[in-house]
Amino acid sequence: MTTPPKVLTIAGSDSGGGAGLQADLRALFACGVHGMTAVTAVTVQNSLGVTGYTEIPADVVAAQIVAVASDIGVDAAKTGMLASAAIIEAVADACDRVGIGAAVPFVVDPVAASMHGDPLLADAALDALRVLLFPRATIVTPNLDEVRLLVGVDVKSREDQYEAARALHALGPRWVLVKGGHLWTDPQCVDLLYDGSEFLELPGPRYDVKHTHGSGDTLASAISSRLARGEDVPTAVRYGKEFIVRSVAAAYPLGAGVGPVSPLW
Ligand code: PLP
Repeated sequence: MTTPPKVLTIAGSDSGGGAGLQADLRALFACGVHGMTAVTAVTVQNSLGVTGYTEIPADVVAAQIVAVASDIGVDAAKTGMLASAAIIEAVADACDRVGIGAAVPFVVDPVAASMHGDPLLADAALDALRVLLFPRATIVTPNLDEVRLLVGVDVKSREDQYEAARALHALGPRWVLVKGGHLWTDPQCVDLLYDGSEFLELPGPRYDVKHTHGSGDTLASAISSRLARGEDVPTAVRYGKEFIVRSVAAAYPLGAGVGPVSPLW
């Protein structure tokens, strides 16, 4: 047997199995890569929302990254919930030590809150995200709520989406993907990819579905799986877009609240 490409997710646990590292591992498996985890926080969560979380000590987060990189190797890494500035600092430092963000592609999904609005990142940590992780990122993948928090652009139109992409790119990532799923007035879901010189609009259908838990995590994982195979960013993002569209179409009900998207079509 040959070893598949290896992807590390640096993310929080969702006890309901819908989002977070559970969604990442599911998507990574479906994308044919080996998934590894540096756990940042344990959320107490079900389909109705997040009622609390405990952070993993920052040095333990860093140690998980170094442990897997030094033995197994990492072909691409992604972030999800990072919880605090102390964890972000430890992640940035550990990534530097093992080449994540340099030779190893690094997808930074700037998770700030759950879809129910429950916070997953301390307010004081936004600066750490901007200053420490964005310059190291191969690509950042914010949704429009995260865009507002990070660069203060309230996206209401395609023009705003372009402005947000420019503002985010100025923070230092090599590529920006401004996801359009939360632009509710748009009949389509148009994600905007930008590398500082060229814009690429990636349109997709907008499904009128309730169950979309874990969609951001699933998209970032699918993109990471292709970067781990050595694909270029536009190719990996196109794959991720197709992957998430199909996963949203295959979402299923769970509990009394919001069910997860599914990478098994
Ligand atoms: N819980 C954890 C641990 C997460 O990492 C995330 C997103 O990354 C969420 C919840 C939120 O997912 P959603 O926006 O689909 O509610």
